[in-house]
Amino acid sequence: MSSELANRLSAVRERVATAARVVGRDPGEVQLLLAVKAQPAEQVQAAIRAGATLLGHNRAQELAATAPCLVEYEHEMHFIGRLQSNKATKVVPLVSCVQSVDRFALAERLDRLAGNVGRMLDVFVQVNTSGEPTKAGVAPEAAVDLATGVGALPHLRLRGLMTVGANSDDVDVVRESYERLARLRDDIVSSGAPGTAEARELSMGMSGDLEIAVAAGATMVRVGTAVFGARPA
Ligand SMILES: *Cc1c(COP(=O)(O)O)cnc(C)c1O
Repeated sequence: MSSELANRLSAVRERVATAARVVGRDPGEVQLLLAVKAQPAEQVQAAIRAGATLLGHNRAQELAATAPCLVEYEHEMHFIGRLQSNKATKVVPLVSCVQSVDRFALAERLDRLAGNVGRMLDVFVQVNTSGEPTKAGVAPEAAVDLATGVGALPHLRLRGLMTVGANSDDVDVVRESYERLARLRDDIVSSGAPGTAEARELSMGMSGDLEIAVAAGATMVRVGTAVFGARPA
């Protein structure tokens, strides 16, 4: 069972590496984050034993419930889901990074919580690049403003942008959503605003479309089902 998991993990790493080489990128520029939502703790432990180092949860409740099972497993945890402000208190102590900052009020809240315990918190601004109403993220037109606001907060370190790509069978539509994120990143980094010069990361691409994201410049892909199989109901 867990050797099967190890095989799927290395197959995904190979997909990422191939996608990078095809467009002349160094595979080492693309990190793999395992999206662990709805996976039992034993599966997550097995993934870490198989070599996964970077994990992402997208529900505060599940993050808190499974955290005690992972204390003896060296890993880095990011939060990648919709975050209600009242859940931020629970999430911040359990993660090194919140990738889903979609509004300034949430950023201020995270900044205060990090400041209270004298630490820096890494963040990404999440952008709704597809415009699909069900997707989280700030509108592309408002992304530069939000990012420059976030970059100025003293206890947040803006690392880049995150998006969930368009849900479409049309490769061009998916590619456009990822290329849009890359252009926004360029606008932010070149804005000269405080705290934006290092915001170079692009967290984009999932099991079904990571090749398109890597071609568009992803520095981190977030993969769940390609490693764990279909999610338990
Ligand atoms: C579940 C999830 C993923 C991974 O999706 P898969 O299709 O299972 O690879 C990536 N990003 C976010 C925000 C997710 O919630």
